[in-house]
Amino acid sequence: MTRTRTVTFPSGVQVPALGQGTWHMGNDPARRAEEIAALRRGLDLGLNVIDTAEMYGNGAAEELVGEAMHGRRDEAFVVSKVLPFHADRRGTLDACRASLRRLRTDRIDLYLLHWRGSVPLDETVEALESLVAQGSIGSWGVSNFDVDDLADLPEGALPQTDQVLYNLTRRGPEHDLFPRCRELAVPVMAYSPVEQGRLLGHEALTSLASARGWTPAQVALAWVLRRDDVIAIPKAGSTAHVEENHAALGLHLTDDDLRLLDEAFPPPSRKQPLDIL
Ligand code: NDP
Repeated sequence: MTRTRTVTFPSGVQVPALGQGTWHMGNDPARRAEEIAALRRGLDLGLNVIDTAEMYGNGAAEELVGEAMHGRRDEAFVVSKVLPFHADRRGTLDACRASLRRLRTDRIDLYLLHWRGSVPLDETVEALESLVAQGSIGSWGVSNFDVDDLADLPEGALPQTDQVLYNLTRRGPEHDLFPRCRELAVPVMAYSPVEQGRLLGHEALTSLASARGWTPAQVALAWVLRRDDVIAIPKAGSTAHVEENHAALGLHLTDDDLRLLDEAFPPPSRKQPLDIL
């Protein structure tokens, strides 16, 4: 049986803990129809959070998301991102307007600073707040921010999420970033939760998967989803992968499973700088 698990942002808005990524979607015309069908199947299954960015395919992924959401805008919780070199006062507003056009919508539900660049954070946050005030975005957050970066946000500015690289092979954030986000009641969005597929042939994963009758991707996702403060956003380019990933919501890793995985992928014992893809 599939659970519907939700995660709550500081704003009080709740979203399902499993969403959908879109990096590399929209690049290959031959795959377009299949990618759109995959995102729409995800919406059917309640994988409402769709993560995209102006960077992905120079806007091609946002256009594809716009097409996939056509007629179903209200089912989706759209996350997009502004590039750091657009993130000054004027550039943020312009980037958002261009994203809204490509997404064919008048609102991005959550708009993130993709990573920290050279624009002062108070200028970016001011621009993001003004987008909230005018209704172009529902809320804002950050991505690829380590603990120090969060501390550098202007006083009183609380992001709705920090989207970071997190999977079995990238456990660094467990040491300090997750505890800090928990203190702030800010959920983390885990990107590349199956390490872009590289994780799936790992022996520990394949043997556990075959022992339980699951797939390696499902083990990797169930492991990320074991935490109640994380939203996972795997990218799946086919309806079969979407359905397989969705089923991971219903899978429960036992303490023995978790011990096995800890042995193969040890948790961090000290601070590790945040990895970025
Ligand atoms: P993922 O870890 O989600 O891996 C995607 C790859 O895994 C694809 O090749 C996909 O293949 C494959 N895959 C997905 N499901 C399955 C399955 N069930 N079985 C086998 N293979 C599967 O990597 P991403 O880097 O795409 O991360 C997810 C999302 O996170 C991105 O798409 C993007 O939205 C976001 N992101 C954000 C970043 C940031 O800086 N903020 C950086 C990187 C990602 P197929 O397409 O054939 O299904």
